[in-house]
Amino acid sequence: MKSSYSIGRLFGIPIRVHITLLLFLPLFALSFAPGDGAAGLLFGLLGAVGLFGSVVLHELGHSLVARAKGARILDILLLPIGGMARLDHLPHRPRDEMETALAGPAVSLALGLLGIWIAPHLLALNQTLAIMVRELGSINLMLAAFNLIPSLPMDGGRVFRAALTPKLGRVAATRLAANVAKVIAGLFGLWAFWPVLHGGGVRFTLLLIAFFVYQTAGAEARQAEQEAIQLRQRGQGNGVWRIPDEDVLVSPPPYVVRERPTAAPPPSRSGGWFPKRK
Ligand code: ZN
Repeated sequence: MKSSYSIGRLFGIPIRVHITLLLFLPLFALSFAPGDGAAGLLFGLLGAVGLFGSVVLHELGHSLVARAKGARILDILLLPIGGMARLDHLPHRPRDEMETALAGPAVSLALGLLGIWIAPHLLALNQTLAIMVRELGSINLMLAAFNLIPSLPMDGGRVFRAALTPKLGRVAATRLAANVAKVIAGLFGLWAFWPVLHGGGVRFTLLLIAFFVYQTAGAEARQAEQEAIQLRQRGQGNGVWRIPDEDVLVSPPPYVVRERPTAAPPPSRSGGWFPKRK
């Protein structure tokens, strides 16, 4: 059985839905439903579709900018936890990486402001619709804000890393960004347990996010170390771990899931994953 299904294309990019999302969609619809009965469920379904439509547009923002910078977009995959644009590689230059990372939150911010602006105008038409559009607007603002937290692997973490890369080099920049991400994950963890002090329960979603951020940040740092070791073995870097902008190593971001062997990154301009031996 296939694990994901194509539901169409946008700008030539296939949009795929993971089977788990299809299973979860009725739950999302129920949680969105403003009332009982068929009408409530219909609005719930509309809200759930609007939520994942917003995620698609966020990923489309990343994708179109990445494509303009020379990456090939394999598809946009929707999962119950969100979406991911699958690219054959990240744009190489720090500036390009930064613009690619910022494009998603920029789309969400624009959608959020649009939703909140348009909602009052819909009140005369249909009150439930107006409330839903406002709700989707604030969800988009949250999507923008949350993804901009400077914590790898989130968009803000990529911006942070890309900003540091010209000064520190890719590896040291990744290591620093990963350490910052771990501190932020720790704060998320504390925040998750905070209600316990006041007799409440643990915030499990937040705890999950903290765990996810900590794990992925650690993996990114390890990968950067690995790249540095390979560079030194090839007689490059000399432990300084600073490489010319042209040869900045491409480390696949977590939203690149290479399920298919054909999605492996093609050789870069310098002839491979690592700069050629002189
Ligand atoms: Zn994003």
